[in-house]
Parts: sequence; C-alpha cells; structure tokens
Amino acid sequence: MIRVGIGTDKHRLVFNRKLVLGGVEIEWGKGAAGHSDGDVLVHAIIDALLGAAGLGDIGHHFPDTDPKWKDADSLMLLARTLELLESASFVPLNVDATIHLELPKLGRLKQEISGKIADTLKVPRHCVNIKAKTGEGLDSVGRGEAIEAIAIAQIGTR
Ligand code: MG
Repeated sequence: MIRVGIGTDKHRLVFNRKLVLGGVEIEWGKGAAGHSDGDVLVHAIIDALLGAAGLGDIGHHFPDTDPKWKDADSLMLLARTLELLESASFVPLNVDATIHLELPKLGRLKQEISGKIADTLKVPRHCVNIKAKTGEGLDSVGRGEAIEAIAIAQIGTR
C-alpha cells in the first residue's frame, strides 16, 4: 500500500539565530525563530510523513510547550518520526520539498541538505529532493522576514 502526506511550515527570520535547514547550519546572520532549532524544512517533512501514516502532526508528538524540545535538533525529531512510522509498519519511499527563502542562495547546499535528510530516513539519497525558490520581493518571504517550506512524502507498508 502506498500513501502520501503533505506538510508545511513557516518561521520568522530573526537576527542572531542560526539558520538550520535539514540539519545543515548556514552562516547568514539571520535564522528562524522557534522553540526547537527552527528547521522549517525538517518540520514540514515530519508533518508530511506523519500525515501519510495517519499519525497526526508534529505539534502532537513534539509540542513546543515541552521544555524537552527547546532548541532541539530537528534531525533528531525526524529520526524519532521514522521510528513512529516503523512502529506502524510503514517505511518512507520518497520526499520532495521546496524551501521558500529570499536569501541566501542555497545552491550546492541543497545536495548536502537532502543527503542528511535521506541518511536520517535511511533511504537512498535520490529519494529525497530539495528545491528552493525566492519570494520575488513579495510578502513576508520576499521581504526576508520569513522562511517557509512545503513537503510531500510517499510511504509504503513494510
Ligand atoms: Mg516549525
């Protein structure tokens, strides 16, 4: 059986925060505000995987009111999400995601980011695809005030 899920996330960009995407730290002087490390990409992917499995959402499993997840490494949350899927007899098949970010240009970092996510999900690297788009100077992304991600995940039964 094949199932799909979708996930989105959005965080404010603030000064003096690390910018973390897919567990990769990017030197930029601005980063995503948030209870955990603010990794919007991984948060969107977690919601897509949970959605595909019918397991609710990230806020249910990793509530931002819980001090346990303060500044949490989101890749660790992704690894925990994989365990939740496996407990329900599912395995991830592929993930496709788009990051909406005005600056910096991600360029080659996209490969590093998708590699880390694939390794965490224990899937071949070609099964995780990461894309990036700007906001063309429009709305909160375009003004550099926010970063967003949207992800879709396909899972199968073991
Ligand atoms: Mg988030």
